Amino acid sequence: MRVSEMFIPTLRETPAEAEVVSHKLLLRAGFIRKTAAGVYSYLPLGMRVIKKIMNIIREEMDKQGGQEMLMPIMQPAELWLESGRWQVYGPELMRFKDRHNRDFCLGPTHEEVITVLVRNDVRSYKQLPQLLYHIGNKYRDERRPRFGLMRGREFIMKDLYSFDKDEEGLQKSYEKMHRAYTNVFTRCGLTFRPVEADSGAIGGSTTHEFMVLADSGEATILYCDTCDYASNVEKASLPAAGLDAGLEKLEMREVTTPGAHTVEQVTEFLEVEARQIIKTLIYKTDKEIVAALVRGDRELNEIKLYNALGCLTLELAGPETVKEVTGAPVGYAGPVNLNDVRIIADLEVAQMVNAVAGANKGDAHLINVNPGRDFKMDLVEDIRMVTAGESCPKCDGKLQEAKGIEVGQIFKLGDKYSKILKAHYLDQNGKEKPIIMGCYGIGVGRTMAASVEQNHDDNGIIWPVSIAPYHVVVVPISVKDQQQMQLAEDIYNELSGRGIEVVLDDRNERPGVKFKDADLIGYPIRVVVGKRTAEDKVVEVYNRKTQAKENISIEELTDAIQKTLISLQ
Ligand code: ATP
Ligand code: MG
Repeated sequence: MRVSEMFIPTLRETPAEAEVVSHKLLLRAGFIRKTAAGVYSYLPLGMRVIKKIMNIIREEMDKQGGQEMLMPIMQPAELWLESGRWQVYGPELMRFKDRHNRDFCLGPTHEEVITVLVRNDVRSYKQLPQLLYHIGNKYRDERRPRFGLMRGREFIMKDLYSFDKDEEGLQKSYEKMHRAYTNVFTRCGLTFRPVEADSGAIGGSTTHEFMVLADSGEATILYCDTCDYASNVEKASLPAAGLDAGLEKLEMREVTTPGAHTVEQVTEFLEVEARQIIKTLIYKTDKEIVAALVRGDRELNEIKLYNALGCLTLELAGPETVKEVTGAPVGYAGPVNLNDVRIIADLEVAQMVNAVAGANKGDAHLINVNPGRDFKMDLVEDIRMVTAGESCPKCDGKLQEAKGIEVGQIFKLGDKYSKILKAHYLDQNGKEKPIIMGCYGIGVGRTMAASVEQNHDDNGIIWPVSIAPYHVVVVPISVKDQQQMQLAEDIYNELSGRGIEVVLDDRNERPGVKFKDADLIGYPIRVVVGKRTAEDKVVEVYNRKTQAKENISIEELTDAIQKTLISLQ
């Protein structure tokens, strides 16, 4: 293509709304435009990248036996009522009515559609296993759509669903997808890590997220400095060490602690360590109010608490509710004599001896509080955050922290959906059994954005060859110089004839402007046709990634470019 005829609206200024580098550069380089909050159009260059990522995904899914299909975005409420997720999904689910007043939603994911489809058409073990996928738009009315393609309300996802006879089959499908995902993200040129994760609203047991390591990532990963353990902080878990297990339990007593309502103030005032304090947090769920207890030196993990309570919504209670429940202002809540709410204690709290806790009145705390003796725990669960610096759960290494962008996630669903939606099959003995499922998603746009987060410099994007919109831009210095233009055209024709994806920047612009655009857009190779080309038949070849410039004769150019492209793969 000739750049003069292409729709590549580059911007000199960074749009004010863009916070992260991928958002800024994709807007500036003319890859995407915002239509509404979290809703984007992919311009021609953006679409080329999207298509390349999709094709890599397709190839890797097909290699594992995946079969592509296409399912509807518009989904009837009945499916979601049947699975129970019409309620669970909450305000993220985009709902609407048709002209007959029937409820529908825009699919945020496709477990319901595909499970019912398979339920209706798969009867026998002979029809299993199946790996079915599609690539299409998903809709989630995210609370905070942001970062451009990273967190949209409309976004492109590849989702594959596996259907197996049993757990063994599921394990095989899961491993296939783990492999496929590793290949996809490697081929997209990303530095990433699969991590253990929480299964969230999708449900199921085992799950891994594929995290692209980048400081702008919204997820926090903990990984071991010695072994291959890596986990989303939401999921990371360690056994509780009973540090004070041997101590004699002393008599509980109240002490005054004027003005001391934070953990730090209490540790100073009472000269105790933070780990000897029981932090009591009052939470409100859709069903009840609970008191959640973690050690003073720990943070509560709301995802773990949410899972432990099995609730639909969870939020920290406001000061009025705290006062109502505990009789005390925020900062003095404690579990002793807290009779009207359920008490959920972290594993570590259950093991504390002679702890300090709020006394449920202002300016007072209790000392020598002993869980079990002085208050009852309705539930003891792991509800705390693990942090960097703690020991690895798998070896004696130490945990490190990094930020990650979740580009994909794979789940073992088991019979979660097939049971509720009655997707059964008959086994070899004619016995009816639930189909065992897995689901596997990749965010296509998010993968594109993650690539930019990892591959850019001050001048713009540096696309990996595998997903670059074009491989080469040919830039004649002076389009008015007919000889130069002719040479540039010849080179352009030769390269495209050899299957190299090339554009010719034939715009009547200053060379500086064209170079700036080429850097911003991130073509892996720039070929400059100037005076010397006419005189000596030599062009300047610039490698966007290494920034190396080389003069190469026209004769050797195509081979040299092909070699460079291969070396950049
Ligand atoms: P997140 O935790 O980031 O909200 P999720 O875990 O809800 O994502 P999944 O249901 O696992 O997302 O979806 C599969 C993939 O789809 C994700 O790994 C991600 O790449 C992509 N994805 C999910 N939500 C969005 C979004 N709002 N915008 C763009 N891509 C998304
Ligand atoms: Mg996910």
